[in-house]
Amino acid sequence: MSQIERLSCLIIGSGPAGYTAAIYAARADMKPVMYQGLQPGGQLTTTNEVENFPGYPDGISGPEMMLQLEAQAKRFQTDIRSGFITKVDFSGPIHKCWTEDNHEIHADTIIISTGASAKYLGLESEQKYLKLGGGVSACAVCDGFFYRNQEVVIVGAGDSACEEAHYLSKLCTKVTMLVRKESFRASKIMAERVQNTPNIEILYNTETLEVLGDGQLVTGVRVINNTTNQETEIACTGFFVAIGHQPNTEIFKPFIDLDETGYIKYAQPGTSKTNVPGVFVAGDAADKTYRQAITAAGTGCMAALDAERYLAAKGH
Ligand code: NDP
Repeated sequence: MSQIERLSCLIIGSGPAGYTAAIYAARADMKPVMYQGLQPGGQLTTTNEVENFPGYPDGISGPEMMLQLEAQAKRFQTDIRSGFITKVDFSGPIHKCWTEDNHEIHADTIIISTGASAKYLGLESEQKYLKLGGGVSACAVCDGFFYRNQEVVIVGAGDSACEEAHYLSKLCTKVTMLVRKESFRASKIMAERVQNTPNIEILYNTETLEVLGDGQLVTGVRVINNTTNQETEIACTGFFVAIGHQPNTEIFKPFIDLDETGYIKYAQPGTSKTNVPGVFVAGDAADKTYRQAITAAGTGCMAALDAERYLAAKGH
């Protein structure tokens, strides 16, 4: 049987929240161990250029920024491991976690920074141009700027889609919004805002069949009206998907309070505390509102400071 490893601080997940928590925890001598998870670096590794993170006046690519954050966490001896946590038990005073190869860890403090994953339609053409960085995005605030004075298409009918469509309408000459039903899911006020924006065209009962491109860049989309079965092509250079996010919180569900959409609930607003003492959360796993690298980094800092104070109060 493998030996149980005892840690002062375990960080689960490796986006900006996790790395920032690691930098703070390591500098506070908490000897953090980080499990990077299935997508080391997190959502930013699917973003081309990050231009809105303060301190990078010329911008930086998402993957490059994550490598820099990793290097900074390592500089203070964070033990960064590839691999992921598959099971936890927070029922007792010791926080127990197991890795995918069944290694058992007992940690005084846990920082959950597992993030959220944007949902995509799952079309082959969508995934192709997403991977190429050729014009498919799930984040208007991150990538909208690259499409200024151009025409874009956005899929979705919830509050996020409305918010992102409105954001894009200020940058782009035209935004076409594809709504698969005959009405919005979004709140009335958000739906009305897009309906009243002159350069947003809403196509109801419309689904995406294929993202079109020249092999490198997106040039349009082929859509179908699901009531008439009529297919049309819409020219665009950017294709935005805003059909929701899935927080990566499933393994914590038996112990940690989640809201109805799976996001971790803060036990005390203004802190990073969850309902389990010693377990803290940072980043998108608890944030369905802001979802930015900089806000994730900020809450990562909060989680490490809260963990440090928790340990100090316990006399560690
Ligand atoms: P939602 O789950 O609310 O909405 C997802 C939307 O995507 C729905 O309109 C759904 O369509 C559509 N959709 C899902 N799958 C597909 C598909 N395969 N093809 C086409 N369309 C699809 O997600 P949001 O991210 O919009 O919002 C999540 C939560 O965050 C909500 O509670 C929301 O209120 C909140 N939020 C609040 C904001 C604010 O108040 N400022 C801003 C952003 C989010 P259908 O309706 O047909 O099912």
